[in-house]
Amino acid sequence: MSGQFVDQLRQDMIDQAVWNDQLVQQSGIQLIDTPFVTVGGGIGSFTVVDYLRLAGVHTSQITVLGNQDKPYATYKALANNSQIPDYERLRSDAGSVLDSPWGFPSYAFREAAATKKLGPLWTVLTEPIFSEYYTPQAAQVYQSVEREIARIGWYEMLKLGQVRMIRRRAEGGYFVVFTPKDHNARIIYRTRFVHVAVGYPGIKMLQDLQEYKVKHKDLSRVVNAYEDHSQIYSALAQRPGRVLVRGSGIVASRVLQRLLDQHESGRPIQVLHLFRNYVAGPQKTPSAGTRTGKNGFAYQAFNYPKAAWGGQLKDQLLNLHEQGRADLIRQTGGTNTAPRASWTDQLHRCQQQGSYVQLIGQVKDIHPVEGQGIRTVVEGPNGQISVDADFIIDATGLEAGVDRDRLLTDLINSGGARKNTFGRLQVTPNFEVEGAGTGVGKVYASGAMTLGGPYAPVDSFLGLQYAAQQIVDDLAANGFGQRMGPLRSMSQWFKWLRNQQP
Ligand SMILES: Cc1cc2nc3c(=O)[nH]c(=O)nc-3n(C[C@H](O)[C@H](O)[C@H](O)COP(=O)(O)OP(=O)(O)OC[C@H]3O[C@@H](n4cnc5c(N)ncnc54)[C@H](O)[C@@H]3O)c2cc1C
Repeated sequence: MSGQFVDQLRQDMIDQAVWNDQLVQQSGIQLIDTPFVTVGGGIGSFTVVDYLRLAGVHTSQITVLGNQDKPYATYKALANNSQIPDYERLRSDAGSVLDSPWGFPSYAFREAAATKKLGPLWTVLTEPIFSEYYTPQAAQVYQSVEREIARIGWYEMLKLGQVRMIRRRAEGGYFVVFTPKDHNARIIYRTRFVHVAVGYPGIKMLQDLQEYKVKHKDLSRVVNAYEDHSQIYSALAQRPGRVLVRGSGIVASRVLQRLLDQHESGRPIQVLHLFRNYVAGPQKTPSAGTRTGKNGFAYQAFNYPKAAWGGQLKDQLLNLHEQGRADLIRQTGGTNTAPRASWTDQLHRCQQQGSYVQLIGQVKDIHPVEGQGIRTVVEGPNGQISVDADFIIDATGLEAGVDRDRLLTDLINSGGARKNTFGRLQVTPNFEVEGAGTGVGKVYASGAMTLGGPYAPVDSFLGLQYAAQQIVDDLAANGFGQRMGPLRSMSQWFKWLRNQQP
């Protein structure tokens, strides 16, 4: 017991998929009513809450349940670890403005105004033919979100802690079980609508590297690019070293640049880069044209072609069935990186000098060798080779299956939700979780957990905003908030411009 309330859920409650008011009241756990709950408190929650506030919903009607105090906290931590510090540029365009659904003034416009330089405007005018796409600096995005959370009253809505489960309510709506950060007594929120945006459940390590780490208890020399691995760069600043990088997406590009920058600043570092799937030339797809490919990498400016956000690819995907959607998403997405001249030039330069070496093949074995570091045995096109490195950086990705997320697994086992062909949550075009409805109540989801559905770039700033718009429109159709017409939109934009509360 904590105070007058009970802490723990009874086993008979956990075993029941549907709870009623009497059951919850008799449990002795504190019960709070709120019409709308968003779970996660990250960028996905922020976009939905921002749109709801613009749609006239008061802070008292919204509860944000998350485990970080800032919506960009988890994002920033992952970005920093994967070598995107505040001053580096991200991988989204000038109009993917997180703090403003209107996209104007764009990040490029704001940067031009702040620095009193025309460069960013020239870039957006001439991209992508005469210049590379404009992309904002990470710090600019964080600062703009900071201003918006103050404007919309984020901290009036945010409760810090962990959401344990979402249970359907027999009378309609849901019970959301929450463990607050500041004390142990649980709270159950009784609500009509739930939105879930919990991001990635964890860091994914390649199977062979995971096995090596466990077997040899080697935690600091073999790392995932998304975890803090600053010890590697510090060690390389002190003594010569060889690093093996695995993966060929955007994170691999960032890690390679970081290592080669350090090498080019005078440190004796050699970078070995192992490709499992080497892209030697352009990649033709049946429905999405040809993608540039060379020197091992598949290149495209953003993680999907621009038409996937709001053009013909978006419409095409929406009109396909599950398998067709999965095929199109795989063709247009998959592992790719941005074609930045600074990166490709540096790789070329270092390749010529022998400080960047490419290898192709499947890993057969990894083991430590006394005095040589870590040996990776690779079965390549010309037979078996062994490469020794002081460090291995796995830049292949994050864990994304719903099975790795306790809350979503429970939503599938007890809440009526189901998995799609990507092993993520099956959602409708307005991002309602299929099968989890309770008549008057709905569960919505956005972000990485909805990949494989009617929209491809779900895990992007603009994708999260697109999902937010669909969700908020659907909520308005169900009597929660007002639909955003031209007049409301215009008046809200002026309020945004003057930094006034919505
Ligand atoms: C390194 C990196 C760089 C990226 N760069 C770009 C880019 O340049 N441009 C772009 O458009 N997109 C980018 N993305 C993609 C996307 O914008 C981000 O993944 C974004 O953070 C997704 O928002 P989200 O809310 O889904 O997840 P997050 O922002 O991760 O938020 C989810 C939150 O939910 C919390 N949570 C999880 N479970 C629970 C629970 N049970 N109870 C309470 N809280 C919980 C998590 O701790 C986390 O804080 C990038 C992604 C990564 C990883």
